[in-house]
Amino acid sequence: MSTPTKERARRPNLDTVYTINDDGSRNFLHPADVHGRWQVRKNIIWGILLAIYVGTPWILIGGRPAVHIDIPGRNAFLFGHTFTNQDFYLMFFLVSGLGFGLFVVTSMLGRIWCGYACPQTVFMEGVFRRIERWIEGPRDARIRRNLGPNTRDKVTRKLVKHAVFLILAYLTAHVFLAYFIPARELVRVVTQPPSAHWAAFLWGLFWTGILYFDYGWFREQTCLIICPYGRAQSAMHDRDTIVIGYDEKRGEPRSKKTQEGGDCIDCFRCVAVCPTGIDIRDGLQMECVGCANCIDACDDIMERTQRPRGLIRYDSQRAFEEGTRRSFFRPRLFLYAALGLAGLLVFGFTVSRRDAFELRVLRSQGLPYQLEPEAIQNVYSLRIQNKRDEPAVFFLRMDVPDSAPASLNVVVPQPRLEVPALGDVRSPIMGRVSRQDWVASFAMTVAVTDSATGHTQTVDVRFRGP
Ligand code: SF4
Ligand code: SF4
Repeated sequence: MSTPTKERARRPNLDTVYTINDDGSRNFLHPADVHGRWQVRKNIIWGILLAIYVGTPWILIGGRPAVHIDIPGRNAFLFGHTFTNQDFYLMFFLVSGLGFGLFVVTSMLGRIWCGYACPQTVFMEGVFRRIERWIEGPRDARIRRNLGPNTRDKVTRKLVKHAVFLILAYLTAHVFLAYFIPARELVRVVTQPPSAHWAAFLWGLFWTGILYFDYGWFREQTCLIICPYGRAQSAMHDRDTIVIGYDEKRGEPRSKKTQEGGDCIDCFRCVAVCPTGIDIRDGLQMECVGCANCIDACDDIMERTQRPRGLIRYDSQRAFEEGTRRSFFRPRLFLYAALGLAGLLVFGFTVSRRDAFELRVLRSQGLPYQLEPEAIQNVYSLRIQNKRDEPAVFFLRMDVPDSAPASLNVVVPQPRLEVPALGDVRSPIMGRVSRQDWVASFAMTVAVTDSATGHTQTVDVRFRGP
């Protein structure tokens, strides 16, 4: 086959970044099509994930989207649970629980997340790259056309591709926005003139631009340069982690003459299908996103040359190097699993036990008490935040101890408070003691009862004087 390209003339190695040319320009990759059992599995998983990404904002639970982050209202709705800004600390436990769960998976199965489930991969490989192949043809045709003159055919295909990419970027951006603006409202917003919803319009434009740039041009550079998870993963790998690797013992010495040397016939097919442009035969590399394209490509070559499959396969470094079985249970797995479980348990327990309202009692700032000619007065400000997605009624009272001065007079101007859904209401409480009666400060208790559940929260306050 002819070799018309810069890409083919240059071979990946461990000393240079293959996607950057010597002169600093971008070496744009053109991964070849590949078929095989791992592609079938990936396609099924990507189909399910795309349905989840797109469908989740449309699912309603209790009248609210299943997942909705309401930034202006400072609330989040997750599968029927409402979280206000006061619950933000819970995100620490949720994120650390899920994060350590991902650590367990990564320690066991390497970059399985990157290759199969990361939205960057799912949209790039499952949607945009596929469309590029439909419009611009297979790898060799794409490379030849890109290096050739600007013919009518080339310009037309490029224009069509970028028009489709722009439309898809616009749609994908709005899938993303639907997690912040309820999907049905978003449909109404985008069908009205931009002047009616400038903020939503500009966010839509911004994310469309970002996604078009990412999927249309930046591509694998997002994984290689920007994503911190790719780098962090090497810290979670050990010699028993399952990775995608090349069986050097079996493959070397590689030779194009099929009757000589090892099983690798140096056909370059594993490199041609790689979306990050690396040669897996050089060993495990940070740029490998675990997509399994090289496994399917090499298995196909092995079958055609009547050799056993698995020259490139999922296995541990220990197995590749020593030929021994990998050890499944390692201390770090238990540690990650325990930390992940702890985070999720604390989150689940706290969510199940938390109150439907938040009570705060503050004293007037810089004014612990007010002195009047005959009396001492303390003023407290109550704030009740309703975390429910419906209005709620609360009953207020102040409990005073028997030892309190006889002249103590407590005034609760609003013993019954109605608080709107996810809103908050403030109300004062006043206490007054005759100066003749004053001896020392004493404690009282503010009690607020939720009429819907009968649950009461209390806060102790002190009555202060000179
Ligand atoms: S696809 Fe297999 S046989 Fe071909 S170069 Fe890669 S490892 Fe060697
Ligand atoms: S080396 Fe193989 S698994 Fe890794 S990114 Fe390239 S094709 Fe995918």
